[in-house]
Amino acid sequence: MTGDTLFGKIIRREIPADIVYEDDDVLAFRDIAPQAPVHVLFIPKNVHIPTLDDLRPNDAGLVGKLVLAAAEYARREGFAQDGYRVVMNCRDDAGQTVFHIHLHLLAGAQLGHFGTPR
Ligand code: AMP
Repeated sequence: MTGDTLFGKIIRREIPADIVYEDDDVLAFRDIAPQAPVHVLFIPKNVHIPTLDDLRPNDAGLVGKLVLAAAEYARREGFAQDGYRVVMNCRDDAGQTVFHIHLHLLAGAQLGHFGTPR
């Protein structure tokens, strides 16, 4: 149910992660290669959905929970007013490397432009 990816292993506590948030549906942990002073990944913890392209209409609530968990974390950690960015990458052209959907939360600095070709 949690899938055979790196993030499935983190959900099952088979490999360590710096977990910063957890509720019934969502797990969040610090990215191992941070791209900003705050870089946290929010993932569904009970289902394995490889990419955004695999989402179906009845997953809408789950995606909303990822976004709301990130917003709640930003408020709790005190940087919501300064601002932040959330990003979800889908497949190769976006640079997706872990095939368990995840929402990146980036904050803690003025963030540069994004979306430029690699
Ligand atoms: P993406 O490129 O959108 O698939 O994002 C995957 C992210 O997972 C990257 O930002 C990686 O740095 C991050 N990552 C890879 N392995 C780990 C790990 N063991 N713990 C935390 N983050 C990781």
